[in-house]
Amino acid sequence: AQSDRDSMFILNEYARDYFVKILHTHPEGKAVGLSYFRERGFRDDIVKKFQLGYSLEQRDAFSVEAQKAGYKRDYLLKTGLSTGNDNQPLFDRFRGRVIFPVHTLSGKVVAFGGRILKKAENTGKYVNSPESEIYSKSKELYGIYFAKNAIVKQDKCFLVEGYTDVISMHQAGIENVVASSGTALTYGQIRMIHRFSENITVLYDGDAAGIKAALRGIDLLLEDGMNVKVVLLPEGEDPDSFARKQNAEGFHQYIAENEVDFIRFKTQLLLKEVGDDPVKRSGLISSVVESIALIPNTITRSVYIQECSQLLNIQERVLISEINKIRRRNY
Ligand code: ATP
Ligand code: MN
Ligand code: MN
Ligand code: MN
Repeated sequence: AQSDRDSMFILNEYARDYFVKILHTHPEGKAVGLSYFRERGFRDDIVKKFQLGYSLEQRDAFSVEAQKAGYKRDYLLKTGLSTGNDNQPLFDRFRGRVIFPVHTLSGKVVAFGGRILKKAENTGKYVNSPESEIYSKSKELYGIYFAKNAIVKQDKCFLVEGYTDVISMHQAGIENVVASSGTALTYGQIRMIHRFSENITVLYDGDAAGIKAALRGIDLLLEDGMNVKVVLLPEGEDPDSFARKQNAEGFHQYIAENEVDFIRFKTQLLLKEVGDDPVKRSGLISSVVESIALIPNTITRSVYIQECSQLLNIQERVLISEINKIRRRNY
């Protein structure tokens, strides 16, 4: 029901304010949480802007406080801020973690991510709010509320993997950036970006997983008529770690120099893997051709066909006939 959803948003707002207050005023919050962000190099103004917080180690500190303030057990469980079986006391889902609120397009707090501080624990590095009446992970994009104006102004959106990548890029002056939060991009997320711009640059982690994720998500973007570029970061870096090693200017320059069109990126990447094995080579051609066939705009398609014909050293008419075959099959 609508009122249910409203109550959940109101509780999330209360929790957001609580975690922010703990981070900035509680001795443990300052010593553990705020120090953590400062050691990572996050400026205080950026910590405030993204409403980052801290959840105390005491296992029920938040749940007790929220119930004292009048918030009902039912909603604490529904939002996933607390956990607990029937009639058992509630525990805090995010205890002992720094908190990243997740905002909707209009700035409402729809969920939280919590990061552990110590490496030793064998729990996941991040814990996120569970799916709920108000939160469907695949529909939200971390950072969109803070990015939408800049995306329109620059007519371009950067896509990264994680919370900290978005935050570090803002700090480096790049505000048109959103994160898929470690999962494959969905159609709904793509439509949300497309409302603001057709141009997207994917900045995935410079490791095998990042490259794989980039290749996977991108066909959906092409199919939606987006112009897709890729920046591959140096091995072992993500946008956050890389931005911190450089000054803002160096980071901007790296992007400018390393931004390549997706089709070219994919072709060159695969060419490197394939060598001159003819069977693998024909597999590569098929895969690139499949991607080009997804592009709705005829002119854009023909530009790519020309380019790939050169890169792959294959006649254009062969590529065209293959692409037409695929399009007849699929569309
Ligand atoms: P950090 O720099 O703090 O280590 P990161 O953002 O670089 O964080 P990655 O391991 O690159 O972390 O993961 C990218 C994103 O995937 C995270 O920001 C988070 O949204 C999501 N994620 C990572 N690990 C988990 C997990 N165990 N459970 C849920 N989501 C996760
Ligand atoms: Mn469009
Ligand atoms: Mn990362
Ligand atoms: Mn990182």
